[in-house]
Amino acid sequence: SASAKKDGKIDGAALVGITADKELDFPGWYSQIVTKGEMLDYYDVSGCYIMRPASYFVWEQIQDYFNFRIKAMGVQNAYFPMFVSNRVLEKEKDHIEGFAPEVAWVTRAGNSELDEPIAIRPTSETVMYPYYAKWIRSHRDLPLKLNQWNSVVRWEFKHPQPFLRTREFLWQEGHTAHLNFEDANEEVLEILDHYAGIYKDLLAVPVVKGVKTEKEKFAGGLFTTTVEGFIPTTGRGIQGATSHCLGQNFSKMFNISVENPEGADKEKLFAWQNSWGLSTRVIGVCVMVHSDNKGLVLPPRVAQLQSVIVPCGLTVKTTAEDRDAIMANAKSVEKALKAVGIRASADTRDNYSPGWKFANWELRGVPLRLELGPADLKKNQVMAVRRDTGEKIPMPIADLAIAVPALLETIHDDMYNRAKALFDSHIVKVDTWKEFITALNGKNVVLAPWCGEMACEEHIKEKSARKDDGEEEEEEDEKAPSMGAKSLCVPFEQPELLEGTRCVCSGKLATKYTLFGRSY
Ligand code: AMP
Ligand code: ZN
Repeated sequence: SASAKKDGKIDGAALVGITADKELDFPGWYSQIVTKGEMLDYYDVSGCYIMRPASYFVWEQIQDYFNFRIKAMGVQNAYFPMFVSNRVLEKEKDHIEGFAPEVAWVTRAGNSELDEPIAIRPTSETVMYPYYAKWIRSHRDLPLKLNQWNSVVRWEFKHPQPFLRTREFLWQEGHTAHLNFEDANEEVLEILDHYAGIYKDLLAVPVVKGVKTEKEKFAGGLFTTTVEGFIPTTGRGIQGATSHCLGQNFSKMFNISVENPEGADKEKLFAWQNSWGLSTRVIGVCVMVHSDNKGLVLPPRVAQLQSVIVPCGLTVKTTAEDRDAIMANAKSVEKALKAVGIRASADTRDNYSPGWKFANWELRGVPLRLELGPADLKKNQVMAVRRDTGEKIPMPIADLAIAVPALLETIHDDMYNRAKALFDSHIVKVDTWKEFITALNGKNVVLAPWCGEMACEEHIKEKSARKDDGEEEEEEDEKAPSMGAKSLCVPFEQPELLEGTRCVCSGKLATKYTLFGRSY
């Protein structure tokens, strides 16, 4: 809405708010949400975006959360160069096959052509592993656990989307080497739990944990585990983050080996390796899931500003004394909240009306607004207004240091629980192909018994691609409404598979329930 209502009156100071509807024009809405909410700006290189402080702050919270946990696991941060030579990049065949179409190359420096083009890392397996081979000399050098916070470049040709799919993106990539499969496997799952934790504990977003199919696994890896998210408005799944067990494929290519400490005959043991990554995509998922037609709705734990105090109800008739008292109290509330670790700010600017401020802080997603007017002050209270629900709660000023942190926690839990209930209600368990298509076209993801064969998965994608029925409005991606369903993951948590259950597509015996959906 372009103007905010206060005491039933439309405020005169127009603020250009969100003019696109989330349900009716999702791409237009999303673009306005991230730009007007000051998360991001567009850039003049296609597929690249500027992360402004509000979104970078979210990323910093994620870094703190994740660094704390991986360091407890013995992982150390490091930094490797962004350039990689063709010779090294090509070393693992399946790997380069997977990434080649998206690799960006530097071919020229100033006016001179380079003798050999140099690639910009799309991911750093091939950058790092020659040095793992050099550094890992004996079983005592294992495990080696490094992580880097960096950017990578993938020159994707799919429609770019702020945060979700960008040509350069920030992420962390962890790369570890272990003596045996058990240790590697344990770590893959522990990291996946931390990824699910970033979504749930920081972003209030539910995800489903599972393993990727052979078709969707990481190029060159042994198996890929994933957390899968869901965008209810479009009914599409989204890969949230991935933790790969690479097996010994890369260690054999790069000769990362030690002598078996238990073997008498100097037997050579290749390291078991993992790599795992989570990108700034998570911010886009968070925005898409929670935000509304008034703007961003940020979960409290990652919001740069958690609570804004807005003086209001001041009129020409307000005495200077009352005015000063309101301003002083707004400031002291800010101080009291900061003292208990809340990121709070009193908006005492006098060149904006309260209505304008309300709308502006709503646009920017501040989780909690505290209104303070003369009537409130008389009662020694503020009016707390939740961004997520709009609910108004009177709060005694004396209680704020306890009540505000508690309410922010409640807001986080409520946001998560609402999103979880919505996701759950859009996971439709089916048995037949007819049910599969109906559920898919009803903006759901589909949990179906499946045979596990790659050819069948390709068939599912083809068969579920919608022929142009002229009904669906175009979405941000030309292909979106018609795109076929991909497997999202084989969820760890499985419904009981009754003996003799048949694959939803091929009719062969089903091996697992698998989650399928149209996806980003
Ligand atoms: P991958 O190395 O392909 O497994 O990617 C690791 C994670 O990075 C994925 O799970 C995605 O969440 C994220 N990701 C992949 N491609 C992009 C992209 N173009 N933009 C933003 N995030 C991405
Ligand atoms: Zn099948």
